[in-house]
Amino acid sequence: MEASSQPYRSGFVALIGRPNVGKSTLVNQLVGDKVAITSPVAQTTRNRLRAILTTPEAQLILVDTPGIHKPHHLLGERLVQSARAAIGEVDQVLLLLEACEAPGGGDAFIVNLLRQQRLPVQVVLNKWDLVPPARKPEADAAYRELLDGSHWPVHHCSALDGQGCAELVTAVSALMPEGPQLYPPDMVSDQPERLLMAELIREQVLTHTREEVPHSVAVQIDRVEDMPSKGKGKPRTAVLATVLVERKSQKGILIGKGGAMLKTIGQGARLQMQTLIDGPVYLELFVKVVPDWRSKPARLAELGYAEE
Ligand code: GDP
Ligand code: MG
Repeated sequence: MEASSQPYRSGFVALIGRPNVGKSTLVNQLVGDKVAITSPVAQTTRNRLRAILTTPEAQLILVDTPGIHKPHHLLGERLVQSARAAIGEVDQVLLLLEACEAPGGGDAFIVNLLRQQRLPVQVVLNKWDLVPPARKPEADAAYRELLDGSHWPVHHCSALDGQGCAELVTAVSALMPEGPQLYPPDMVSDQPERLLMAELIREQVLTHTREEVPHSVAVQIDRVEDMPSKGKGKPRTAVLATVLVERKSQKGILIGKGGAMLKTIGQGARLQMQTLIDGPVYLELFVKVVPDWRSKPARLAELGYAEE
């Protein structure tokens, strides 16, 4: 391969958009590894996550933010603060919009927020795979109207199947400032493994329980230890974790009949963790009721939802 005459580029890119537009899915698709948790339930991403994408042309540090939405209680406010803070710290913004839905009031709110600052913005019309071919021109026109006068480049993508993502990386790289690699090229995330493990457990909880439980769940990793191996195999890693819920009824749902639900959650999480750390995992899960943990600043800080 001929050496590129272009300068190397690097920097931070914030992914901004309503909850559920596919920000975390896009991060995983671009990085080619599972670093962000995704789910059909809105508001999955709580902590700000940095994923790292290194190519021969550029290193992009992707900041996956919680969706911008109307705050309901303290946790909601923290999510919005965190998204706003992310805009202030990056070199470029990727605005994600859901092509398969009509533009809504929430989208206009975010577009206005972005118009008030001077960062380069590129638009991802995501879930393009869900728009029937006959409706594509109409969907495109509706979003161009929303973005009217912004001159932001628009990309049609599917974060799920990767359609349009290679072109997106090229376009985003081209607008980054010149700079060196800030992280080793094989590093995909700056999050400690423990936090990723906690997120994998939370993802399983969200996947297997619906309604009531999701928004009031937090996961705390109590202990990670190497266990001596019995035979020739790799040593196992023992993980002890506690799922925190707000109400007794939620604890009941999580444990399930004869512990069946907790077992399903544990099995799913264990398999994902084994991929994460590339070795066998022994996982023990506990469930604890902590009333109103979401409204207590000390609790939020303890669980890693730092005040910005
Ligand atoms: P976030 O809240 O913006 O981080 O959204 P997620 O990444 O968690 O995605 C929300 C849901 O949309 C998940 O069920 C994803 O599988 C789904 N999803 C995300 N991107 C796409 C896409 O391009 N096409 C389709 N069909 N589904 C998608
Ligand atoms: Mg997310």
